[in-house]
Amino acid sequence: MLGSFPMSQHTDTECSSMEERLAVPGWDLTPEYLSFDAPAFAADLERVRELAAELESLAPCAAAALPHAADLDPEREPELLAVLARSFAIGDEIDARFGSLRVYTNCTASVDGGNARAKELRGLFSTLGARIDQAESAFSLLLARASEPFARAALALPEAAGQGFRVAQARKYRDRLLELPEEKIIAALSPDGKDAWGRLYDAITGTAKALYRGPAPSGEAPVPPEGREIGLSEAASLLRDPDRNVRAAAYRAQSEAFRVHEESLAAILNSLSGFRLAEYEARSRRAALHFLDEALAANRMRRDTLETMLGVVAESRELGRRALQLQARLMGLPRLSCYDTLAPAPHVADLEPRSYCFDEGFELVRGAYAAIDPAMGDFVREMRDASRIEARVLPTKRPGAYCTRFPKSRTPYVFLTYRGALSDVFTLAHELGHAYHGRLLASLPLAETAYPMNLAETASTFAETALADYLDAQRGEGVGVVDAGLLEVAWADAQDAATFLVNIPARFAFEKALYERRVAGPLSPGSLTALMAETMREHYGDTLDVYDEGFWRSKLHFYMSGLTFYNFPYTFGYLFSLGVYARRAELGKGFHAAYAALLRDTGRMETEDLAKKHLGVDLANPDFWRASVEIVRGKVARFESLVASLGR
Ligand SMILES: [Zn+2]
Repeated sequence: MLGSFPMSQHTDTECSSMEERLAVPGWDLTPEYLSFDAPAFAADLERVRELAAELESLAPCAAAALPHAADLDPEREPELLAVLARSFAIGDEIDARFGSLRVYTNCTASVDGGNARAKELRGLFSTLGARIDQAESAFSLLLARASEPFARAALALPEAAGQGFRVAQARKYRDRLLELPEEKIIAALSPDGKDAWGRLYDAITGTAKALYRGPAPSGEAPVPPEGREIGLSEAASLLRDPDRNVRAAAYRAQSEAFRVHEESLAAILNSLSGFRLAEYEARSRRAALHFLDEALAANRMRRDTLETMLGVVAESRELGRRALQLQARLMGLPRLSCYDTLAPAPHVADLEPRSYCFDEGFELVRGAYAAIDPAMGDFVREMRDASRIEARVLPTKRPGAYCTRFPKSRTPYVFLTYRGALSDVFTLAHELGHAYHGRLLASLPLAETAYPMNLAETASTFAETALADYLDAQRGEGVGVVDAGLLEVAWADAQDAATFLVNIPARFAFEKALYERRVAGPLSPGSLTALMAETMREHYGDTLDVYDEGFWRSKLHFYMSGLTFYNFPYTFGYLFSLGVYARRAELGKGFHAAYAALLRDTGRMETEDLAKKHLGVDLANPDFWRASVEIVRGKVARFESLVASLGR
């Protein structure tokens, strides 16, 4: 019985009065800008416009040098080098000022969804941003193509501080570049070619209607017998409804709606993959370009690393399936259906929901951080004392949580809506992890701070794991907490295990098979459905009674024109972060220094080098990934003992 676990005792951080319960902090953005009307805001915007115009006036100079870039002699090009120096300085200043204007606008819109000025500014920023990107492209292309002596001379300019890694990456992959006129043709054709397919998917899924026939979703009015028309995003959100019948009805409605469009959707998928394959072939003149290479380069990692990780994931598939079986057991089902995989933790009658006032939740997070290193605990305290946490419950706030950084002041801020559930405490720990990562990057040149997707969740997943261990340790000492919230967290852990070890690998396997088969010709909707069904069966085994064979139609990630294989970085990030955590015991006292140094280098090193340098591990060795899987095993075991203690 869960009741046999010691319940939390009264501590000095526990809240008692109503005022304390309501004392959830908001952020104070005034150190960045006082308001949209503040002179500093207008001045930064004006300055960005001037800089953009200056960059546009310099770009033709770089473009003119492109045709003979490979023969550039730095001795003979003092003017071109001066133009480059100016472009570096402009780029840095734009990144700082324009970045801060955008962050401030987004932050304001997140708290006040109806803010008209924020909407107007976002439109203006996207046009201005496109102009800047266009002007910058001539310079980045020149640096990628330039002769070795010229590139060295450019990087030796004082204005080029921090550009080394970025330029080296561009030069590493320059064999993939085509001749200039060809690059121009591809760039000119893409908006109405490749990108148009992505937009068509958005247009179809944004306007298509599903007919929902089922029980009233939680908190809503009854549904008439003939059903109710809903959008596809609403159908998707109903897949997270606590009522299983609602989820089943939403799944049926969603599947029917997508099936109506399956010819168009198959055409989009075939065209996107066909376009890319043709482009990869064209870019294979100097060295063969594989269809995975684009995504690997974006994540700054090697193919053998990916294969090693996927190998360990495949051997750990049973663990993900085990999590699904336990979820079914807790729900009282022989097995889950595909529409149960996103369900919230079921309500368990004998578990009391427990609420954590902000002070109490905050202290848990601070304690968990301090247990890793006192400096981390101090950082968390400072985030709160400086009013950099927006946690209030406000009707105008957007849902979700995020961490953002102002590039001018280099200051991180955290956004969430804190209602007092244990999951909110975990969200706070997660977002403060991103903030800590941001803090460590604050003293580096901005050009060295952009980290790839596979490393983006390192600090946040790490913080969640640290908090879970901290709560466990506290429970061992008799001051811990067991309640509906703990079950919710364990449920989320099980869901993660199934998502990262089963679902994401299935998405990868499907996309890979699609590219392999697409070489021979387009796939019909029937073939795509059969391929998805086969992939799902292989991954889920007998843990589901209904497979989502239409997943190829409904999953947006397959249809993004700017990104391919937007799947494996999720599993990589999850396991990488746990692998970092797993090194804690071995590195002991030296761990925190190594961890902080690793986070600092995420924007200026390739992934394998990063792990080697700071953790002394080889990502192409399966043992690193197996250590991560062991942590997942511990999380699933924790869930299992909770399920058992409930007599399920
Ligand atoms: Zn995150």
